[in-house]
Amino acid sequence: MNSHHRNMMGEPARIRRLSEAAANRIAAGEVVERPASAVKELVENAIDAGAARIEIAVADGGKTLIRVSDDGIGIAAGDLTLALERHATSKIDGSDLVNILSYGFRGEALPSMGAVARLTLTSRAAGAEAAGSIEVRAGAIGQPRPAARGQGTTVELRDLFCATPARLKFLRTDRAETQAIAEAVRRLAMAEPGIAFSLRDVSARYSDGGGEGRSLFRVEAEQGELFDGRLARIDHILGGEFAANALAIEAERDGLRLTGFAGLPTLSRGAAVAQHFFVNGRPVRDKLLVGALRGAYADFLPRGRHPVAALFVDCAPERVDVNVHPTKAEVRFREPGVVRGLVVSALRHALAEAGHRAATTVSTAALGAFRPELPAGPRLGQGWRPQIQRPGAGQIGAALAAQAPLEGGFEESGWPGAGWSGRVEQPVADETGAEDLPLGVARAQLHENYIIAQTTQGMVIVDQHAAHERLVYERLKRQLAEHGVKRQGLLIPEVVELGPEAAARVLERAEELAELGLIVEPFGGGSVAVREVPAVLGQADPAALVRDVADELADLGESETLKARIEAILSRMACHGSVRSGRRLTADEMNALLREMEATPHSGQCNHGRPTYVSLTLAQIEKLFGRR
Ligand code: ADP
Ligand code: MG
Repeated sequence: MNSHHRNMMGEPARIRRLSEAAANRIAAGEVVERPASAVKELVENAIDAGAARIEIAVADGGKTLIRVSDDGIGIAAGDLTLALERHATSKIDGSDLVNILSYGFRGEALPSMGAVARLTLTSRAAGAEAAGSIEVRAGAIGQPRPAARGQGTTVELRDLFCATPARLKFLRTDRAETQAIAEAVRRLAMAEPGIAFSLRDVSARYSDGGGEGRSLFRVEAEQGELFDGRLARIDHILGGEFAANALAIEAERDGLRLTGFAGLPTLSRGAAVAQHFFVNGRPVRDKLLVGALRGAYADFLPRGRHPVAALFVDCAPERVDVNVHPTKAEVRFREPGVVRGLVVSALRHALAEAGHRAATTVSTAALGAFRPELPAGPRLGQGWRPQIQRPGAGQIGAALAAQAPLEGGFEESGWPGAGWSGRVEQPVADETGAEDLPLGVARAQLHENYIIAQTTQGMVIVDQHAAHERLVYERLKRQLAEHGVKRQGLLIPEVVELGPEAAARVLERAEELAELGLIVEPFGGGSVAVREVPAVLGQADPAALVRDVADELADLGESETLKARIEAILSRMACHGSVRSGRRLTADEMNALLREMEATPHSGQCNHGRPTYVSLTLAQIEKLFGRR
């Protein structure tokens, strides 16, 4: 037993009540982890106080200075001392912990910060004659003094963690801490579109001579109802690139409402950094929601890529517990299954509805590559954004209704498998009516991989390899859902040497693989015999296919769900059936590809989340040539 638990006589240590200062320092460990968490708490207080404008200044990553000023309701002079005491709050009376609408309610933030920094609280209450100010030094609360300021509150923290050097050591560079602060402010700004925010870095190097410092973030109050305001604010914060490549989400189920923006798969990121969730307006980092988002995109993104989204869940307060985490970053839903279901189905639905169009915009950066560098003078087209093509379901639906999906697609048109002819034909100029279709009429193939098609709006460029890979994948999935993937026997079984481990891994899954169209049998040693392969893969090399499947099984391990595994394997298989770049296509073959893309959900991005085609409107083309 640890000696701290006994006194010198070997008896149990006496139970003592911790001093207020010690209790505050302990609470601070949870509430104020780093400068960004202090900023978060202070800004939340300002929001709770009904502020219309919140100004934040930080220096040296928040380590030397954090100052948050608001024009909210303020604190009465007589309450200044109380505000700094533990478990003192004006926000709840303790009788109802369910209907909590404010950010704060635990009454821990100010005292915690007072315990780990030099804190000055200055406030003038609405209707009060004058302002008051009070300081906390090393946990000791001073006497309130008169001060000068307009209505509202300023909290200044200097030398954060000066009293807890251990914590100081864990902080990252000023730059990283500043970034975390900006992120915290951005999140809250997304949640509160009606409030103006500004964040400035006033480190000495930016504010020599007492200047204003450097602006890190600034948004004005958004107009409009909450929903429109939220969207406008997100547009401002996440930027035009996101807005142009995101789908608006609006769904409701059993009294739960989901709204916001979900990025197209092609906008994915290498880390889950651009995922913003709000529950009843509160920014949260909730595992359930993160997982639901991942689940919704599982089919559209390879492992290691993460969707971008800003999603708001709103429900009656009694259906979610916000008091499960000291910084309230996590919440607990009464019916987690319903929430997950709502998120997954709403996002999948939106992605499916976006259909093949799920990646049609060209990013400004990509377009820039089209433009020759201008030696001097203003750059052409600066400041314009690619036109957003976010057709409603109606538009796509109408276009598709005019066009019955091609049954069997390429098999019937003899493409790309067995009957590959290698013929080269001049593309035909006229395919009556096809120009009205979303992907238009194929006009040319460049570099044996890029199909150029003319549409009524302008032109599209298709990456034929990426597009075909996606089509094969979707076809495999469709077959699997219907009655198992159609197989095609090999004339002579192909013996593939995999090594004992990989061979065992593949054979263990032989039954599942059979359903996916791949028949493998043991061949002794580290080898397997491949007897049949999925028919849609055409002339795929069976050895390469099985090696890839073996790799996929090794990568996935046991942890992944069966569904995720199947999708990953199908996706790998699809690569083998795809027309590699470098194949010439006839006009008919190109047009068949375009028509099948239009008829196939999710064909706008390849299995790796890259776009399968981009479109340029005439207006954009004219811009490129300085005609507009
Ligand atoms: P909580 O936010 O959980 O109530 P805090 O320690 O953050 O606890 O704040 C304690 C109290 O101080 C709040 O309940 C509120 O009455 C008052 N207060 C803090 N910041 C502000 C502010 N910016 N404007 C008005 N009142 C504030
Ligand atoms: Mg608070």
